[in-house]
Amino acid sequence: MKVSNFPIFTQKDIPSEAEVTSHQLMIKAGMIRKLSSGQYSWLPMGLRVIQKIEQIIREELNDIGCSEILMPSVQPAELWKESGRWDDYGPELLRFKDRHDREFCLGPTFEEVITDLVKKDVSSYKQLPINLFQISSKFRDEIRPRFGVMRAREFIMKDAYSFHETQDCLDITYESYKAAYRKIFERLTLDYTMVDADSGNIGGNKSNEFHVIADTGEDDLLLDEKLNGMNLEIAKIKYSEDSLESIIKKTGLMHKKGIEVGHIFKLGQKYSEKMKAKITTKESKSVDMFMGCYGIGVTRIVAAAIEQSHDSNGIIWPKSISPFEAVIVEIDGHKNNEVRSHANEIYETLRSSKLNIIYDDRDASFGNKMKDWELIGIPKSIIIGKKEAKNKTVTYKSRTEKDKSEINVEDILGKITK
Ligand code: ATP
Ligand code: MG
Repeated sequence: MKVSNFPIFTQKDIPSEAEVTSHQLMIKAGMIRKLSSGQYSWLPMGLRVIQKIEQIIREELNDIGCSEILMPSVQPAELWKESGRWDDYGPELLRFKDRHDREFCLGPTFEEVITDLVKKDVSSYKQLPINLFQISSKFRDEIRPRFGVMRAREFIMKDAYSFHETQDCLDITYESYKAAYRKIFERLTLDYTMVDADSGNIGGNKSNEFHVIADTGEDDLLLDEKLNGMNLEIAKIKYSEDSLESIIKKTGLMHKKGIEVGHIFKLGQKYSEKMKAKITTKESKSVDMFMGCYGIGVTRIVAAAIEQSHDSNGIIWPKSISPFEAVIVEIDGHKNNEVRSHANEIYETLRSSKLNIIYDDRDASFGNKMKDWELIGIPKSIIIGKKEAKNKTVTYKSRTEKDKSEINVEDILGKITK
């Protein structure tokens, strides 16, 4: 990609409502722009990060036998009435009518739609277990949208659902999602932990949350020295205490703030019973299917990753989700043919090695270009000016180190893929 064809929208100003670092940096680095309260458009640079995260999630879910689908975001009220959540869910559910006066809502989660989908095609134990997931926009009319994409009204979530003949089968699958989630968060190089959680208005009897540990997190976690533990709601019940302080005093557990990036639930038969999603067992008995559901906040992860990895100059992307692996920064290429052709040559070589490289061919000062790339957070820079064009070398700089070094062209690949 060349910047001449890949607009970057860095800016100096930040809106006053951008309280947390990740929100400020996402605006400054040109990743997102606000449309209205809790709604953001994703610009090219931001969308690439989303796509990297989605790819990691896809690979790990495919690996445990989960297949991708896509469901409509507008959902008919009848399904929510069947499950009982039309009344239970509250004002976070955005409801409206179509031209025929039929009631609908914008999907905040998809238990009803998936149960309806699966029950129509699945009638025998022979077809189970089934694991399906989608990555799509969800809408929740949050009372207090804030921190940019961290608590938005419209956001991208990966939601997976599993269907089983027995509780035992659900238990086994639930463990496989736990393992897949661990792999996902490790590949995203997030500093995370898994805790016991309550099920909120999704329901069911067992759930675990995955949290990125960060001071700006909205959730209170109580953890032991290995970072295992539970969220505050569970701790209150478990230790029969009603304040954080009293729980800490009673248990000696550590208090940390967390950003919830994933939540998995054993739903059991909550939805299948209400929505009559039955199968016939081997013994010819009719039973309600056992279900699990498994969410990951894709867009929230972008913000959480930035909260965890930045400095005073900007974002520092982990290699696995950086929008580009490296940037070629040309010094005055528009004025110097040798610089331009050397930079172009390096760009083509790296591209043919299937690396995601962005080449900054703008007519702008070197200082301004470097400032932009530090803000955007690309891990590695390849700098090309007069000296490098003459010596047939490049100057290499890592985002996290001060020093630069002049290296041979043959050594670039090694530096970038390291
Ligand atoms: P929270 O407690 O933060 O409101 P939740 O428990 O209501 O989240 P779930 O129903 O478990 O959320 O949704 C699955 C995942 O979707 C969450 O773990 C989170 O990462 C993400 N998510 C939920 N609400 C939002 C939101 N308003 N903006 C961005 N991501 C969200
Ligand atoms: Mg949750």
